[in-house]
Amino acid sequence: MNFSIALAPGDGIGPEVVEQAVKVLDATGDKTGHIFNYVELEVGGCAIDSTGEPLPPETLEFVKQCDALLLGAVGGPKWETLPGRLRPERALLGLRAGLGAFANLRPVRLLPQLRTACPIKDEILVKSNADHKPEFDILIVRELTGGLYFGEHGRSADGKIAFDTEKYSWLEIERVLRMGYDAAMGRSKKLCIVDKSNVLESSRLWREVASVVSKDYPAVETNFLYVDNAAMQLIRDPGQFDVIVTSNLFGDILSDEASVLTGSIGMLPSASLGAATNRGRRMGIYEPIHGSAPDIAGKDLANPLGTILSAAMMLYYSFGLEKEASLIESAVGATLDSGLRTADIASASGLTVSEKIVGASAMGDAVVRAIENRL
Ligand code: NAD
Repeated sequence: MNFSIALAPGDGIGPEVVEQAVKVLDATGDKTGHIFNYVELEVGGCAIDSTGEPLPPETLEFVKQCDALLLGAVGGPKWETLPGRLRPERALLGLRAGLGAFANLRPVRLLPQLRTACPIKDEILVKSNADHKPEFDILIVRELTGGLYFGEHGRSADGKIAFDTEKYSWLEIERVLRMGYDAAMGRSKKLCIVDKSNVLESSRLWREVASVVSKDYPAVETNFLYVDNAAMQLIRDPGQFDVIVTSNLFGDILSDEASVLTGSIGMLPSASLGAATNRGRRMGIYEPIHGSAPDIAGKDLANPLGTILSAAMMLYYSFGLEKEASLIESAVGATLDSGLRTADIASASGLTVSEKIVGASAMGDAVVRAIENRL
């Protein structure tokens, strides 16, 4: 089959990691008989430089014509002094809102090959794991088009008071909760809603909606945690979690925290989805959870695996290509098995004899080879 993919490499390490994901997609297409056509677009800082806007309206219209969007990262010091509405990160909000991508799925899995890159002790990791293995597998579902990032922002006339508003409607909460429950049904059937309902009225509405929606999923065990406790529990006993559903702000922070448990922020993929269409395809934005990492940009040091795994999520969620997505995931596993590591995922206690540090490009090539060698 043919698929059209909008590519927005963005800024900093964005182009370096997207280049690797494209190589991997092409290898997957060659192996499985699919054709991926790409349209490269500028969003973020690079778009500001060439057009004065982080997301020109025609760029959004172009993306809407495609089947999915693969994004690198946007932002960097060059644009940090611009006013809020002209900052590169505005492009992300514009894409999410413009494409109706209201749920951000962030799988946080500790791969056995990266056990030594995880800073948590074995005895903590095995605590809630039925198999007594030092592993965990969490899916964070973050609400993406509401809450604090989209509420009213402002300053008083003298500029000495600033405010941002956390606002949620029943509909916004219900649709993301349903996305979480649907995912939980295909996993361990445990769902934790993270909020701050002891203080925030919006969180109390989350609980009200959950009390209604949960009735449609009697097989799923639902529990609630305050966000401060959840931040602690993620470190104290990550194995207790299956699916976590939470607001835009809390999800942003908790998923960065959780990423450290997997060895590096460079490992984590994400899918931002809206409602399914009846064409059998679902538009989605696929991107690693990390930013543009200006400190390592242009040096071939970035870990491309989060972006490569985001491409696998694209095949699964937007194109319904389950086997092809698994092919990429298993090729990533085989590459790690072979001992290749980017610097960020080398053993926390120093390189072990079987590990070899490589750059982004060599890591991408190795995943391509692993795909070519798969039966
Ligand atoms: P960051 O994620 O870019 O970097 C944090 C740290 O993680 C840095 O030390 C970086 O070197 C490292 N890192 C990140 N990705 C890595 C990778 N793939 N491989 C190896 N190491 C990696 O976060 P930041 O420094 O807070 O932000 C930098 C810029 O990125 C800012 O302008 C910020 O606004 C932007 N940002 C963009 C996005 C996005 O595009 N979705 C997300 C977060 C931050």
